[in-house]
Amino acid sequence: MKTHQDLINEGVAGRTVLVRSDLNVPLKDGVITDDGRIRASVPTIKALSEAGAKVVVMAHLGRPKGGPSAEFSLAPAATRLGELLGTEVALFATPAERSEIADGGVAMLENVRFDARETSKNDDERAELARELSAMAPEGAFVSDGFGVVHRKQASVYDIALDLPAYAGGLVLAEVEVLRRLTTTPDRPYAVVLGGSKVSDKLAVIEALLPKVDALLVGGGMCFTFLAAQGLGVGSSLLEADRIDTCRALLETGKIVLPTDVVVADAFAADARTDTVPADEIPAGWMGLDIGPASVAAFADVLGTAKTVFWNGPMGVFEMAPFAEGTRGIAEAIIAGSGYSVVGGGDSAAAVRALGLAEDGFSHISTGGGASLEYLEGKHLPGIAVLEGP
Ligand code: ADP
Ligand code: MG
Repeated sequence: MKTHQDLINEGVAGRTVLVRSDLNVPLKDGVITDDGRIRASVPTIKALSEAGAKVVVMAHLGRPKGGPSAEFSLAPAATRLGELLGTEVALFATPAERSEIADGGVAMLENVRFDARETSKNDDERAELARELSAMAPEGAFVSDGFGVVHRKQASVYDIALDLPAYAGGLVLAEVEVLRRLTTTPDRPYAVVLGGSKVSDKLAVIEALLPKVDALLVGGGMCFTFLAAQGLGVGSSLLEADRIDTCRALLETGKIVLPTDVVVADAFAADARTDTVPADEIPAGWMGLDIGPASVAAFADVLGTAKTVFWNGPMGVFEMAPFAEGTRGIAEAIIAGSGYSVVGGGDSAAAVRALGLAEDGFSHISTGGGASLEYLEGKHLPGIAVLEGP
């Protein structure tokens, strides 16, 4: 896999370089609430710009339906990127409307998903859009740096790499390096913490990781299907009844550690009545919305001695203060540990920032939730494979 540094060494001054970044940030009333992905995109863009390239950033925001809309405009992301780079980042609507870029300048194409061909299942439609995109960079190159989208076979991620000389950006490279370490040569003991809402989303990664890990700690909404698999009542907690048998089989490995106490609530609300109960005494009609303090302590014991930790998925409904302590406690235990620690993107990365935890307390915080899980599941990632060449 060639890297953007190889491209810089080949000489990029005056050449147009198309960079696919992941700028898919959460917005509230047009204001970015977490700019982590934009900050993570800066180093590659900056390196190319400082080497004199004319940089065109391509990215998507959300899932716009079929055409341009103000709601899904990348304008806030272009402004924020410009602030971080200390230069103006002009936004243009379509490849044909691209304005002149000075050597070292940076411009951004509007949400690439405003063109429905970007995500088309039809290879010809995607290839056609990819040709229009690559036409912006005759004699140029493509740098793939949007790790959060490399598991997608999309025009600006996959097809374009068939049209232009293609390179991995620094972010994609770093992410792949981290994931490779987690799957091939983890220092032991290796502990994985999984949470989040749906156990069905995580079964594939659990099955792939179980043979490699020493302990798999489970919290979040998904722990209740495991508790149910042990024959416990879970009240009105999240439960995927059709996965109980699978969870029971996974428990037989003896590596899965479940919470022993749970914060329950009488409603899914920040002002609900709450209580902390043993995991085998969840009252009917109450729902478990966080792991309890005894569970945090037990999980922290395992994390304290682990040499490698991978964490994906919040331990509770961290968006509401009464149910955020489990996630906070686990994050603090990982930060306090001295092992190599990776946060797997998605809502766990959002939780780290929302709870004001020290980001540099972790060895790596991934920018791609879905992409990192699919890598760990051993799936083929089209956006990486295409960079490795035929
Ligand atoms: P990730 O993006 O990290 O993979 P998910 O998307 O699977 O995680 O799940 C994140 C969501 O899970 C959060 O919005 C959180 O509120 C929710 N969640 C965590 N624990 C529970 C629970 N006990 N009951 C309901 N929802 C939960
Ligand atoms: Mg999520």
